[in-house]
Amino acid sequence: MKLDVDVLRYLSKDDFRVLTAVEMGMRNHEIVPSDLIGRIASLKHGGTYKVLKNLLKHKLVHHDSSKYDGFRLTYLGYDFLAIKTMVNRGVFTAVGRQIGVGKESDIFEVSNEDGTVMAMKLHRLGRTSFRAVKSKRDYLRHRSSFNWLYLSRLAALKEFAFMKALEEHGFPVPNAVDCNRHCVVMSLIQGYPLVQVKQLQNPETVFETIIGLVVRLAEHGLIHCDFNEFNIMIDDDEKVTMIDFPQMVSVSHRNAQMYFDRDIECIFKFFGKRFNLSFEECSDDIDDDESSRPSFSSITKTAGFLDKELAASGFTRKDEDDIQKFIEGDVEEDDVSDDEHDSELCQTNIKGFDSLHLDQEESTSRCNEEGQVVEILQSPEVGQSGDP
Ligand code: ADP
Ligand code: MG
Repeated sequence: MKLDVDVLRYLSKDDFRVLTAVEMGMRNHEIVPSDLIGRIASLKHGGTYKVLKNLLKHKLVHHDSSKYDGFRLTYLGYDFLAIKTMVNRGVFTAVGRQIGVGKESDIFEVSNEDGTVMAMKLHRLGRTSFRAVKSKRDYLRHRSSFNWLYLSRLAALKEFAFMKALEEHGFPVPNAVDCNRHCVVMSLIQGYPLVQVKQLQNPETVFETIIGLVVRLAEHGLIHCDFNEFNIMIDDDEKVTMIDFPQMVSVSHRNAQMYFDRDIECIFKFFGKRFNLSFEECSDDIDDDESSRPSFSSITKTAGFLDKELAASGFTRKDEDDIQKFIEGDVEEDDVSDDEHDSELCQTNIKGFDSLHLDQEESTSRCNEEGQVVEILQSPEVGQSGDP
C-alpha cells in the first residue's frame, strides 16, 4: 500500500481535528453521521463538510450514503493519525522509503531530528484474509464484534510490550521506541532477514544461537510461534536479532508444546536445507533426529512472564485473549468486520477505543502549544490545504 506522506504537509489543524472526530465517532458507529462529526470536531468557524471533502480527496476517509450521509476512516486515515501523533511527540520528523512488506504489516524507515533512522511498523492485522471475506460483505456488515482496526491496534500494543520486555531481559530484539494506535516505532536493524542470506561464515554458531534463543524464550515462559527465516535478522557480523512478536504465546498455552516444536523444526529444516548442516543427514533416523532437538518438557519454564511483565505496559489479559482468538482462528470470519478495500476500513462498535480520547487530547494540546512543529506536518496557511 502506498503511503504518500507528502499529503501530510498540506493537512491543516482543522483537517486533523475532523479526521480525529471521525475516528472517535467510529467507537460506536460503523459509518459516522456527518452531523455527528461536525459536533465532535466543533470547528471554531464551522465548515466541517468542506474539510471532509478534502479528507475524502486524499482517501483518508470513505463516504457512505447508503443509509444516511456519513464517513468512516480508511487505513490511510488511521496511518496519518498515528504518524501525526508520533511526530507531535517528537519520535520522528520524516517518513522515508518502505523497507518491508510483511504478511500483515507495512514497514517504513523514519528519521528524527538528529538524523537517526528507525523502523516504523504499521500493523494490518487480517490483511491477508481481506479477500476471503470480501465476497461476504453484505452478509457481514452488521455482525461485527471484532474489526481490523481494533485488532491492528492490539497487535501493535502487544508487539511493543513484548519487544520492551524481551529487551529488558537481554534478548536480541529491536529497541522499542514508541507505540500509538496500530503503529510501532523501533530501532532499525542493520542486516537482512535470514531468508535472504545464502552463505554464512559460521552456520553452526548461528544455528546454535537461534536454537538457544527458542530455548531461552521458553525458560522465560514464552514461545515466539512464528520463529522462522523471515523473522530472524542477521547482520554482516552474523549477529542475530529476532523480530515480529504479535503472535507470541505463554508456555502455559494449551498448544504450547506444538508451537515450540514447530519453531524448533522450522530452524532445523531451514539450516539443513540452506546450509547443509549435518543433523539433516541423520534425520531419517528417528531416534537420532528426536534426540538432537531440544524437548519442551525438559525445559525449566518460568510461566507468568506474560502477566507480570506486561501488565505495566497496558497490554491486558483481555487484549491477549482477543488477539489470540483471532490469530488462532477462533474468531469466525463472520465475527470480523469486513473491509471493502485494503486501505479502507469499515466497522461497527469498535471495542477498546477509549484511549483514543487521550490521544486526541494529547495531540491537539501539543499542536496548540507547539504549533505545527515538524517538517513533514507543517501546514500552509488556512485556505491552502488542498493540493500538494
Ligand atoms: P510481519 O509481521 O508483517 O511479518 P515483520 O515484523 O516480520 O512483519 O517485518 C517484515 C519485514 O520488514 C522483515 O522481514 C524485515 O525485512 C523488515 N523489518 C521489520 N522490522 C525491522 C527492523 N526493526 N529493522 C529492519 N527491518 C525490519
Ligand atoms: Mg514477519
